[in-house]
Amino acid sequence: MKTFCGRANPTTGAMEWLEEAEDYDYHQEIARSRYADMLHDKDRNVKYYQGIRAAVSRVKGRGEKAIVLDIGTGTGLLSMMAAAAGADFCYAVEVFRPMANAAVKIVEKNGFSDKIKVINKHSTEVTVGPDGDMECRANILVTELFDTELIGEGALPTYEHAHKYLVQEGCEAVPHMATVYVQLVESKRMWAWNKLFPIHVEAEDGEKIIVPPSEMENCPGVPSVCDIQLNQMPSSDFTALSDVVTMFRVDFSKPVQSASTCYRVQLEPVQSGKAQIVLSWWDIGMDPSGTINCTMAPYWVNPTSALQWRDHWMQCVYFLPKEQPVVRGEKVQLTACRDEYSVWYTLQTASAEEDEAAVESPVCRCLAHLLWNRARFGELNDRDRTRRYIEALRTVLNTDSVCLCISDGSLLPVLAHYLGAKQVQYFILDFRFLHFSLFFKANHLEDKIKIIEARPELLKPSHFEDKKISVLVGEPFFSTSLLPWHNLYFWYARTAVASHLSSSVTVLPQSAALHMMIVEFQDLWRIRSPCGICEGFDVRTMDDMIEDSLNFRESKEAEPHPLWEYPCKSLSEPQGVLTFDFSRAVPQHCLSTEGSVNLLRKGRSHAAVLWMEYHLTADISISTGLMQISNEKGNCDWNRHCKQAVYFFSSVPESGTLSAPGAVTYAINFDTKTGEIAMDFKL
Ligand code: SAH
Repeated sequence: MKTFCGRANPTTGAMEWLEEAEDYDYHQEIARSRYADMLHDKDRNVKYYQGIRAAVSRVKGRGEKAIVLDIGTGTGLLSMMAAAAGADFCYAVEVFRPMANAAVKIVEKNGFSDKIKVINKHSTEVTVGPDGDMECRANILVTELFDTELIGEGALPTYEHAHKYLVQEGCEAVPHMATVYVQLVESKRMWAWNKLFPIHVEAEDGEKIIVPPSEMENCPGVPSVCDIQLNQMPSSDFTALSDVVTMFRVDFSKPVQSASTCYRVQLEPVQSGKAQIVLSWWDIGMDPSGTINCTMAPYWVNPTSALQWRDHWMQCVYFLPKEQPVVRGEKVQLTACRDEYSVWYTLQTASAEEDEAAVESPVCRCLAHLLWNRARFGELNDRDRTRRYIEALRTVLNTDSVCLCISDGSLLPVLAHYLGAKQVQYFILDFRFLHFSLFFKANHLEDKIKIIEARPELLKPSHFEDKKISVLVGEPFFSTSLLPWHNLYFWYARTAVASHLSSSVTVLPQSAALHMMIVEFQDLWRIRSPCGICEGFDVRTMDDMIEDSLNFRESKEAEPHPLWEYPCKSLSEPQGVLTFDFSRAVPQHCLSTEGSVNLLRKGRSHAAVLWMEYHLTADISISTGLMQISNEKGNCDWNRHCKQAVYFFSSVPESGTLSAPGAVTYAINFDTKTGEIAMDFKL
């Protein structure tokens, strides 16, 4: 069965109808899922197993039959643990059909079919009774329904329902309890993901300061959690203003309420500073005594204990609605509010007038938080990056320039205005970002910078008052871009506006280059690596299923990851593989390249990483990927505001490569019609 899905091509901008097999979506979901990562999470698996064994033996110790309800069984792992621990019967509920089917196969393969019944339903649809899905209520409730924010995947309503309808009163629960911890911090680096800082421009007639509109300054932002690998955040990037404290707990063995509520704690600042951010994480105690504990605490909390790497659970960064000064020793009150699925924070200081903590979830009023994601805020606040654009713009602008900017929510038109002469008219083509006018108003530029509302191919000479464009600029950045080369949309837009460009037009960036490097990941390889046997259970059916889904498309795809969060070691030199000349229109023919890269260091070739470099002018470039290889071991520094493309190799050579570095051959093809890049690598 085929279905048609309409979408704007992120690279070419063309509206296209893709014929997708109906199972495409689920293949995507399986291929990109976190199941493999969960199965590799040894610490989690061991502790669940310990907790489940303890719960089964408590129930059996009371002389009762152990009847288990496993909500969200996935591969069936936790039910198999329960059955192996001596449970009399397990009901394994899984809403996602392909996973429920996989669970049936895995349970059978491991010989537990008579002890485990897989129910392909959402738990709230499960019925209990002689003709129901479950014969009777369970007395052990096992789940793993947590995300980085704990409740974002709907654990609370699921538990609320299960306690009402599916389990006995006084049941055992694994996990037994979750505890959410918080720490108040000041961090310029993280605050730069939430607020735009003023930008200083040295113009001909003195220093100009680009200021964010007051709406943006006072905006409480959006409630969506910012989840990151906090273990990659060096301690020099933030200052702890409070100790780590418990914010709230959820006891899963008792009826759970999902209705919105608030929790308050008193904090005594250990340091004076600007309270900007609440860092948060949780732990789950698998048994009532709290001795079997699985924690997401970052490195500075228990410096002596080993950290388990995982990507399915990370840590949360919450931005306070506004920054507030706190003084060492002067108590403040931190409020966490939550609804069924998300958490947000407010801080009450003694000095601030008594505003009762807002229970309402924050709503972005300035639109910037809806248009720019965290990384984009960080990118716009990156002074070194802005300095390069300023330098480059200076060299290409003159007093007669007629400038067109093509980029989403970009500050380039403002920079261009300040760096040129007053009479010059600037145009901005930013059709997805109409509300950006707020920004121009705050800087009194509404009549200096014109926002043109049209797709590039629909522009007419009248849009430019019949003038030809002498300088075309772009960062380029588009909010629809997922992979680095999607920003080549700039090239397609440039091609579409060709008739409006003067014959001597300057295009900035003048070109882009796709770069590539072979890497060995410290940990990220786990998310795409088969698991085989997990705690004694054969889960190879799941490995095969992921492999099938990864190969569902004829050519394997690269996936975006922010590599500053995922340490890796370069095994080859970085290498430019394709260039895109923005001074010319997009050619009709494909751009292809073939070659080989030498492996210079010992290691496992997990993946090729790809990124774009923009050559703003002949001497000024911006890298969206590698910043530097920081030591002789090959450790890399990555651009912290961009995601890089990761192409995982399906077979990672084992120790062979460890002793003898070899070469990797590649063939890369950029199809200028579809905007797609196909890659093939041979190790
Ligand atoms: N228990 C497995 C998998 C956990 S992932 C393990 O620990 O390895 C969570 C799974 O729960 C997902 O497969 C998701 O589809 C499923 N799920 C989430 N909420 C559910 C609900 N209320 N009812 C049924 N399945 C649910």
